Amino acid sequence: MWSRKRIDIAWNDLAIGVSGAVSRRDVSAGHRTVAEAWPSERAVFACLSVRSGWDLLLSELNLPTGSEVLMSAMTIPDMADIVRAHGLVPVPLELEARTAAPSPETLRQAITPNSKLVLIAHLFGTRIDLTPHIAVAHEHGMMFLEDCAQAYAGPTFPGHEDADVSMFSFGTIKTCTALGGGVFHLRDRQLRDALAQRQAEYPMQPRG
Ligand SMILES: *Cc1c(COP(=O)(O)O)cnc(C)c1O
Repeated sequence: MWSRKRIDIAWNDLAIGVSGAVSRRDVSAGHRTVAEAWPSERAVFACLSVRSGWDLLLSELNLPTGSEVLMSAMTIPDMADIVRAHGLVPVPLELEARTAAPSPETLRQAITPNSKLVLIAHLFGTRIDLTPHIAVAHEHGMMFLEDCAQAYAGPTFPGHEDADVSMFSFGTIKTCTALGGGVFHLRDRQLRDALAQRQAEYPMQPRG
């Protein structure tokens, strides 16, 4: 049991972080290191956080205003706020008490002609089998995203290989925190490259 608010980081990780921040290093080399450290059948994208990566993804997809994003009814509020900020409609999917995730039937019943994306979170350290959910989404021509922000379990679990995107967070309160950071595993390499290009246009913070 790991008590809440006890930050999951070691002193040597902090020392490496500080030295990385003050030394001049190529950012793209850092991205390659992340991809090599966490191999996946899919493309790997390192970003500033799950939320910023989610924002980049919605910008890139550029869905018609009013499109629906079917998402776990319980998640951090920012995930739904980002959906709204893109002119899209978050549609909450009720969770089952046993799994803390919506059932595939709940997902199926929520689909309308406006539904475009499905985003399901593994909550409180649980990991649910999303195979049936992914099948429902793909049957309806929707992209399936898996929010693994609370499900990091080391490099042996890169998410469900059939998910279009699996999103991991290394924010301050997460398992194995890096005090900030996100990693996405994506099926579509072109989409990965498009997100990387958008992210490269972010203004850089001065080193000091
Ligand atoms: C923490 C969390 C996020 C956001 O992660 P950041 O990397 O901090 O943006 C998203 N979804 C869930 C379920 C989370 O717990």
